[in-house]
Amino acid sequence: MKLNKTEYDPKLNSYEVVIAGGAMIGTAIAWFLISNRDFNGKILVVEKDPTLEFSSTSRTNNSIRQQFSNRLNIEISKFSSNYILNFKSYMENDERIPEIMFKKIGYLYLADDIKKLNLLKQNQKLQNSLNIPTKIYDQNSLLEKFPYLNVKNLIGGSYNNYNEGYFDSNTIFNWWKKKAAEKGVEFIKNEVTEIALDSNKINAITLKDGSKLKIGSFVNATGTKASTFDKTHFLRIPVEPRKRYTFIFKTEAKINNSVPLIIDPTGIHFRSDGNYFLCGCAPEFDNTAAYDDFTIDYELWEEKIWPILANRIPDFERIKLVNAWAGHYAFNTFDQNGIIGPHPEFINFYFANGFSGHGLQQSPAVGRALSEKIIYKKYRTLNLKPLSPERLIEKKPFLEKAII
Ligand SMILES: Cc1cc2nc3c(=O)[nH]c(=O)nc-3n(C[C@H](O)[C@H](O)[C@H](O)COP(=O)(O)OP(=O)(O)OC[C@H]3O[C@@H](n4cnc5c(N)ncnc54)[C@H](O)[C@@H]3O)c2cc1C
Repeated sequence: MKLNKTEYDPKLNSYEVVIAGGAMIGTAIAWFLISNRDFNGKILVVEKDPTLEFSSTSRTNNSIRQQFSNRLNIEISKFSSNYILNFKSYMENDERIPEIMFKKIGYLYLADDIKKLNLLKQNQKLQNSLNIPTKIYDQNSLLEKFPYLNVKNLIGGSYNNYNEGYFDSNTIFNWWKKKAAEKGVEFIKNEVTEIALDSNKINAITLKDGSKLKIGSFVNATGTKASTFDKTHFLRIPVEPRKRYTFIFKTEAKINNSVPLIIDPTGIHFRSDGNYFLCGCAPEFDNTAAYDDFTIDYELWEEKIWPILANRIPDFERIKLVNAWAGHYAFNTFDQNGIIGPHPEFINFYFANGFSGHGLQQSPAVGRALSEKIIYKKYRTLNLKPLSPERLIEKKPFLEKAII
């Protein structure tokens, strides 16, 4: 099929930076690069489906938390929440830019045994030391604060609503893309199919129609397809699609509309979503999903998820399911955290992959950090070295115990 010139074809045959993947992460990187005064060059973002229909970005739950167990993940979220709250000033005080909706309903982690509670206490200590005011609740104080909860099998929980909740990521994405395009970033509908490696760098990339482009740097922001460009035996990107369901429901019961994002000890999580509620969970067997499998398991909802919800909040006995979707995490099977930074051997090959369930909230920090690494060859603000691909070769996981 002959491709339509304007939509599919790059204008040039050489770019300073080519980014494969134009969803949240790829677009963040493009924006932070082009808006940096020290960057001088042309950027091309190649996205195979600009509707983003099957991307993680368009199936996300939009939540952000500070309650991580790893200092770096907390620092990343601190920057991201600040960025969301001050979006307009970060976007050059452009008068067209609105306030970003950020509902700070908080996250509530529940514990039904001492081991889980001790982990929450350990995390709380670290969070408090970084000025995140997470509090630990025992069974009684849980009930006092959240009277709609059934606390029978619980021994406690941790709660924080300082800069935790959910936000309007769509508006952020749209403005990154719009302003990046205004500053000259090219966004095309196409696919990067090949990279050509020299002794220590990528020389060129190939697009789906066979055209070749010279590049200064290449960024892999392809979500679940991250391993497409694995070329060496010593570095494999351990990312695969894993299904996650989202169920939206409503209830006639008089329960308030700021139920925090509750992480139940069973592993499912749920929260208010305006006048509705949102519940997220993994399939019964959490294996690699086929790239095109977005079917929804309604039996799981009926037989497992709803009973868990109704057990935790008795008002959820009477609910009506109003919407549901399946999405894919770009699941990092090694340690479920982002893989960020340059390839240890091919110096102009950058990764921004494997974000699993927390890439949306990390996108401002990742965009900023990777743009610094590309421009200055080092991190200037947050040092994301612990998330670099070297850890895969050294077999040293990035330890994050609070994975959702
Ligand atoms: C159900 C669900 C709920 C989630 N909830 C949250 C949450 O509450 N908070 C949070 O922080 N995160 C959440 N996440 C995770 C978050 O959505 C992702 O980490 C984030 O959106 C990843 O963005 P991305 O740009 O890396 O990947 P994607 O959004 O998957 O985008 C990758 C893009 O690359 C394109 N592409 C692939 N290969 C090529 C190629 N060769 N050439 C060109 N283009 C290519 C694809 O078409 C795709 O559009 C959730 C994810 C899911 C699935």
